[in-house]
Amino acid sequence: MALLQDTRKLAQLLLKDRKIDRSGFDQIMTRLTEKSKTVTGKQGHYSKAVEQNGADVIRFISGLNIRSAGRKNKVVGEDEIVKSVAAHFKLPYKKLDPLDLDINVVTRTIPKPFALKHMIVPLSEQDGVLNVALIDPESHEAVDGIARVTGKKINTILASPDDIQRIINEFFGFRSSVSKAEEQISGPHIDLGNLEQLNRIKRPDQIQSNDEHIKNAVDYLFNSALELRASDIHVEPKREVSLVRFRIDGLLHEVYKVPKGIHQAIVSRIKMLSRLNIAEKRLPQDGRIRLEYEDGSSEIRVSTMPIAFGEKLVMRVLRQEMLLRDMESLGFFPEDLIKLERSLHKPHGIVLVTGPTGSGKTTTLYSALGLLANSEKNIVTVEDPIETICPDFNQVAVQPSIGVTFSSSIRTILRQDPDIIMIGEIRDYETAENAIQAALTGHLVLSTLHTNDTTSTITRLLDLGVKPYQINSSVVSIIAQRLVRIVCADCAVETKYSKKKLASLGVKIDRSEVALKEGKGCQECRFTGYKGRTGIYEALEMDDTVRRMIQEGQSVISIRKHALKHGMTTIRDDLVRKMLKGVTTLSEVLRVGSGF
Ligand SMILES: [Zn+2]
Repeated sequence: MALLQDTRKLAQLLLKDRKIDRSGFDQIMTRLTEKSKTVTGKQGHYSKAVEQNGADVIRFISGLNIRSAGRKNKVVGEDEIVKSVAAHFKLPYKKLDPLDLDINVVTRTIPKPFALKHMIVPLSEQDGVLNVALIDPESHEAVDGIARVTGKKINTILASPDDIQRIINEFFGFRSSVSKAEEQISGPHIDLGNLEQLNRIKRPDQIQSNDEHIKNAVDYLFNSALELRASDIHVEPKREVSLVRFRIDGLLHEVYKVPKGIHQAIVSRIKMLSRLNIAEKRLPQDGRIRLEYEDGSSEIRVSTMPIAFGEKLVMRVLRQEMLLRDMESLGFFPEDLIKLERSLHKPHGIVLVTGPTGSGKTTTLYSALGLLANSEKNIVTVEDPIETICPDFNQVAVQPSIGVTFSSSIRTILRQDPDIIMIGEIRDYETAENAIQAALTGHLVLSTLHTNDTTSTITRLLDLGVKPYQINSSVVSIIAQRLVRIVCADCAVETKYSKKKLASLGVKIDRSEVALKEGKGCQECRFTGYKGRTGIYEALEMDDTVRRMIQEGQSVISIRKHALKHGMTTIRDDLVRKMLKGVTTLSEVLRVGSGF
């Protein structure tokens, strides 16, 4: 019997390859016997397990979570099993990355039912050779079928059942929705007897965005963005097509090309979901969509902008579990975390988080509020716009067009008996004054400012017109932050650097030599060498000396000198510290740290 139709044979291969040990093998055999008994019992007349395909056999073994023989804290998953199978048949194994595939090759070669039945997907084409991913190299029927239909030579690649299933769902789902919608819009099947169809042609805009296929395509779009951990989705009309790009760990990747005819329908659907004015196409608009799914929820912040070839959409994906995190998981070094938590537990005062846009300030603020939230505290936020809806907070959105500004909102909130107030951003004197007033009347206030570091925040407040005594009586601490990319754990290698070499790059260390990590690129990190991002921080706690220096009008430079002498570590120090710990790389230090 073929290898992937026989669980025992496959288990023997894994044992031979030292993927599992003897007890793992016995575990598989025991469960196999149990399983065939159940099958026999149910069906009554089967002497052994019903016929299965390769995907079932692989999933059966990986579903048992057998401990890996080589790496004790890992279990043998689909990928490990498929790697063994690939080596056995001397075929290449590939971890499928949706961002690498050509949607036209994937979906136009074979129909979805065929792909699903045989668990096979064409990936790309090169010089007349079609690269096809499948699970069972001994199931020739499917490969022969594709070769016959396309007339092309087939290059077989093995991939895991999960990967193949995901590609089929994602690509065929999106593609078929888009092409069905395209058919309807260009209208080759007009039934003149059907009034509804006529209506469609008369009022394409309105009908299109409600079209079932467009709805599906947009759903698929959001699903794949979540699956790929995208932070932003861009839908950009070009002259011929519309491009869909995802930002993942800070970099943009092109994911789909959508026919130009569909662009406006997709934009309208998204505008409708975010309650924007669909008819208004000449002015920029902002809105939001709430997505609920099985294990959580996300908020999509939508902004539209008219450009030369139509309306461009940029959507920011805000995952609640990403915004509201454990303070420890934000990347604070223990001493900075202690400083921050000490400030957060003060009964009143202002805690400021500063940095440019996209430096993770909001995550820090939300997580801090999450830490403070309990049923005895009334937490109120004023935001522009509300980043994500949290049931634990009372959130107010600023709407300057109807006169609801930061400062008018704070005045209203103060009459609502709050304990903790979060102000999205301090941009003007009025808001600053209201924040100070709130702090002086017994509230803890958290807010952000657009400044580079902790000490320049003091200058910024003075520039806004805040008096030194106002700062001194309210501000308890200032946190400045940035984000850096985290080295991919799957492909990191160490390189030794001497103190001299690093000094020549402007990086000071106290040892004569260090080993630094750098990702060499792998499937897991899409060959970027990085996976995820973490914060780097500088925390300034206001002490009596700092207050006196502000009062005396001393320069920011001398305040900074004092803070550094008393143990403040700078963003750059934190960055170098994270590089030495192997969290991030020298290249990130040179890239992010050049501004300090
Ligand atoms: Zn990697």
